[in-house]
Amino acid sequence: MKLWEDKIRRVVPYTPGEQPKRPVIKLNTNECPYPPSPAVQEALDSLDTSDLRLYPDTEATPLADALAEYYGVDPDQIFIGVGSDDVLAMAFMTFFQGEKPILFPDITYSFYDVWAQLFRIPYETVPLDEEFRMTREGYYRENGGVIFPNPNAPTAIAQDLDGIRDILDHNQDVIVIVDEAYVDFSSKPSALALLEEYENLLVVQTFSKSRAMAGMRIGYAFGSPELIRAMKDVKYSFNSYTMNLPAQTAGAAAVRDDAYFQDTVARVIHTREKTAAALKELGFVFPPSDANFLFASHRQKPAREIYEELKKRDIFVRYFDKPRISNYLRITIGTDEQMETLLRQLKQILGEFIAKDTLPSGERPLSS
Ligand code: PMP
Repeated sequence: MKLWEDKIRRVVPYTPGEQPKRPVIKLNTNECPYPPSPAVQEALDSLDTSDLRLYPDTEATPLADALAEYYGVDPDQIFIGVGSDDVLAMAFMTFFQGEKPILFPDITYSFYDVWAQLFRIPYETVPLDEEFRMTREGYYRENGGVIFPNPNAPTAIAQDLDGIRDILDHNQDVIVIVDEAYVDFSSKPSALALLEEYENLLVVQTFSKSRAMAGMRIGYAFGSPELIRAMKDVKYSFNSYTMNLPAQTAGAAAVRDDAYFQDTVARVIHTREKTAAALKELGFVFPPSDANFLFASHRQKPAREIYEELKKRDIFVRYFDKPRISNYLRITIGTDEQMETLLRQLKQILGEFIAKDTLPSGERPLSS
């Protein structure tokens, strides 16, 4: 072994969902199946490339202003980053330091423990209950900070404002981060409603799901001016110019097209409910989803086998080989057509398990 080798920072990186090169039905990374608002195309078409000579606005002002107006907050309550992963990483670096462990659920977004390890932040996980719901009492103990997604991922379960308020009330001396990547698909309100009451609350959202712009990499956080200032100081000590001009312009255009946004979200929710009913008929069980995915387990066939069978048929869903959830599939909601193909293939894969009378008339169960 060379002596310099022990100078290398060794980390186990986050494993993102696969991005296959060939066309497949891609239901594995919770992207939106629809394109972004046409206003985004127009904004990009009218971009003057001579403006690219200059460094971009470090504050992403056009985008921050559009978000401030839309959500009714001051621009100094907004932090903007290159995807919410960037925002969350900055928040971990800014707010989670010290000896006490930060807390997050045992089943949750699998980047949290990666950042904790990268930044050497001690952490402990709080088990979800038997039905995968968050247990508030688990967050009553002393800690160095709290983070959880709401709705949670990959469970798709959201808690209401009372639950979040209770966690905030029991954690007044640390920063509490609510990761709202999926909140726009939820029947439960955003924790943004609590921002004025709790100066230690940070609410993180993204353009990657409901605004159909995962490829543009836009995330943002709401917090008290003090929290936002601290995050910016850390960010500017790292790299000031992370968000490029096209992303700032396109992001602002997307926020201003509220009708398109509302329509896209409504379409995804409609397809989600239809798909949920059909999956139930095929013998799947899952918690009601407040997100753009379903977290489903089949009563008879192991999730891993279904995942592999679907993959052979060029349908990609997400499978986590982890304790408690290794018999679940996380299925992103695609277009109606994609979900119909999924259901058709699932019927074939599950053929032997599906009672004849649960199939629509004329269809016969097929052997797997
Ligand atoms: N939080 C949660 C809970 C997520 O599932 C994701 C998507 N992988 C993210 C944050 C990050 O999304 P993005 O960086 O695309 O905004």
